[in-house]
Amino acid sequence: MVTAERTTVRLVCAECGTEYPTGVPRYRCTCGGLLTVEQPLAALRETVSRELFDVRLASRARLDQSGVWRFRELLGDYSPGEIVSKPEGRGNLYEDARLTDWAGVGQLWLKHEGENPTGSFKDRGMTVGMTHARRLGARTVACASSGNTSASLASYAATAGLAALTFVPEGKVSTAKVAQTIAYGARVIQIRGDFDAAMRLVQEVAETPEYGVYLLNSINPFRLEGQKTIVLDALQALGWRVPDAIVLPGGNLGNTAAFGKALEEALALGLIDRIPQIITVQASGAAPFARAFARGFAPGSYRPVEAKTVATAIAIGDPVSYPRARRVIQTTEGIVLAVSDEAILAAKAQIDRAGIGCEPASAATLAGLRALITDGLLPAKASVLAILTGNLMKDAEAIAAYHQPDPRSERPGANPPITIDPTLDEVKILLDEAGRWGAGSTE
Ligand SMILES: *Cc1c(COP(=O)(O)O)cnc(C)c1O
Ligand SMILES: [Zn+2]
Repeated sequence: MVTAERTTVRLVCAECGTEYPTGVPRYRCTCGGLLTVEQPLAALRETVSRELFDVRLASRARLDQSGVWRFRELLGDYSPGEIVSKPEGRGNLYEDARLTDWAGVGQLWLKHEGENPTGSFKDRGMTVGMTHARRLGARTVACASSGNTSASLASYAATAGLAALTFVPEGKVSTAKVAQTIAYGARVIQIRGDFDAAMRLVQEVAETPEYGVYLLNSINPFRLEGQKTIVLDALQALGWRVPDAIVLPGGNLGNTAAFGKALEEALALGLIDRIPQIITVQASGAAPFARAFARGFAPGSYRPVEAKTVATAIAIGDPVSYPRARRVIQTTEGIVLAVSDEAILAAKAQIDRAGIGCEPASAATLAGLRALITDGLLPAKASVLAILTGNLMKDAEAIAAYHQPDPRSERPGANPPITIDPTLDEVKILLDEAGRWGAGSTE
C-alpha cells in the first residue's frame, strides 16, 4: 500500500511532538515546549526549485515582489487574497572592501534587513504572523517589544485593519521606535519594568482566551516561518552559493531559530548542498545564550540575566526561543559570543561611515566577526554573510551620543557637527582641513 504524502502544514511541540490544530491560537504545548510549524517537505520537493524562485525575481506580480512571499510554498497554505503584504523583504546585499578588511575576513556580504518597510527584519515575520492572525479571525493583536516588533506590528495591523496593543519597557525604547508605533495607530502601553517583564505580562494576556488577543511575538511560530526567508533571500542573492558562516545578532533568539530551520529545509529541498555555520552575537550586558554556549550548554548553564546594553533591540535577559536556538547552534556547529557596547558602537561607526548604516544591535555582527578573527576562532579566509537587522534611523540618540565631542573618550570615527559664523573665512579654515573628513577610513 502506498502511504499518501502529507500535504498540509502541522503545528507540533518541539519537545514532545504533540500536534495541535493550526486554526486555534496556541503558543506553547501543555508540556511547556515551544511549538514549531512543520511544512510538508516531501510534497514540496516536487514543486519548489531554485528556478521557480529565480523566475519570480523578474515578475511584477505583487506576491513575487515580496522577498517573503516569493518563497510562499515554504510558508504555509495561504491563498493570495488573504495575505497581508506591503511588500517587504527587498533589502540590498552590500559588499564593501573597507568593512571586509576591518572585520579581517576573506569575503563579507551584508544583507540589509533595515531596508524593510518599517526599518527592521521584523516585517518579514509580521507579514506571515498578521496573515495568520486574520485567518484565525483575530480582532486584536499584541506584542511585547524593545521597539522594532511594536513598530512592525502597528504598521501591519493598520494594513490588515486590526487593533494593536504593544507592551514596551518604559524609558528603554528609542524615541523613533515609539514614535513609529503611535503614528501607525497602535496603543503603546509602557511597563514599569524591563522587556522580560513586558514579555511575561503579554504572554499571560494572550493565554487568557476571553481577552481575545492574538500574540505576535517571536514565540509565535508563524512569525518565524516568515523570518526564514531572510536566509533564503540572501542565498538567492548570492546565486545560491553557501557562505562558510552566517552571523546575526541575538536577543530573543527567534532569528537564530528561524535561520536554522530555513537552512535545514533548504537542504532537504535541494536548494543548497551544505549548511553554513550559524554565529550569534550578543551584547555582553545581555548574554545568557553566549554564557550557556561557553559552558557547552551543560545542564544548568542557562541562567536569565538582567539585561543592560546600548543595543536596545537585543537588551533581553531571558530569550523566549532559547531552546530552539540552542539546537540550531548545535546542529550547525555554530558559535555564540558576546561583545562589549564599545565594540558594538565602534563597529557601527564603520558600517555607518561606509554609507550603509544600521542600528546598534545590527553592528554586533561586525564587532563579533572581528573578535572571532582576532581570536583565531574563525579562519581569516572565511566567506561570511552578516545580517544588518535594523535601520540607522531607528536610534538617533545612540548616534548623537557617540558623535558628541568628548575629550575623555576616544571614539573611532567620531564626527560631531561644527557650528560657525556665516562668513567665508570660517568656511575657508574648514576646507583647509577637508582631508580629515573626506572619504576614507575612520581609523
Ligand atoms: C529584534 C531585533 C534583533 C534580535 O532578534 P531576535 O530574533 O530577537 O534574536 C536584533 N536586531 C534588531 C534591529 C531587532 O529589531
Ligand atoms: Zn510538548
